[in-house]
Amino acid sequence: MRVDIAKRIEELHATLPQGVTLIAVSKYHPVEAIRTAYDTGQRDFGESKAQDLRIKQQQMPDDVHWHFIGHLQSNKIKYIAPFIHLIHSIDSLRLLQEVDKHAAKAKRIIPCLLQIHIAREESKFGFTPEECRSMLDEGLWHKLKNVELRGMMCMASNTDDVKQIKEEFGTVKQLFEEIKAKHFANNERFNIFSAGMSDDYPIAIATGSTHIRIGSDIFGPPEHYI
Ligand SMILES: *Cc1c(COP(=O)(O)O)cnc(C)c1O
Repeated sequence: MRVDIAKRIEELHATLPQGVTLIAVSKYHPVEAIRTAYDTGQRDFGESKAQDLRIKQQQMPDDVHWHFIGHLQSNKIKYIAPFIHLIHSIDSLRLLQEVDKHAAKAKRIIPCLLQIHIAREESKFGFTPEECRSMLDEGLWHKLKNVELRGMMCMASNTDDVKQIKEEFGTVKQLFEEIKAKHFANNERFNIFSAGMSDDYPIAIATGSTHIRIGSDIFGPPEHYI
């Protein structure tokens, strides 16, 4: 049975605490599905492939906030640099430097999050907490004038073990607070903690998530639409 996208978005908005932004992750779904969500008033959408995102962006109104949440390759930054609202998945200084270059070309300052690898799965991307600390301590990122670090993103392990998920989100939240105190103490804009997906967003919100990224719970299982 087809999911009722509009109904699910309205239900989610009705239950989310104030200050939590819902990002509708539309990566496996066609523009028609995005438009259905848009018509309910939803404006924040997440995609994980730069070229798909570019194609969808061209077909949607300009007031959509597009979030990039996938693994970003340097040679794909050009597709999204002119309009991307927030890149959640910075996983190396090198990538941040490349985004900075493209942002300068596009005459923009692109907001970015540091992705923290906390899940047990090896396949996931991101800085370990230790790598994140040393990258920030080394300080080269201060030179980058066309990117702005706004916070952190993480994914918990894909498990039913609620205790483990809580621990993982808690570890990243603590790291977030530590980094904020050390490097962004006077910067109110380092304030985004992007955590929580369809299966674990209530736990993420309880841990202080400000941005949840919901795909299948809104749009249903992946569709192969291309
Ligand atoms: C696909 C994806 C989501 C959404 O996952 P669902 O389980 O479908 O809600 C959230 N975050 C990232 C980084 C993703 O790749």
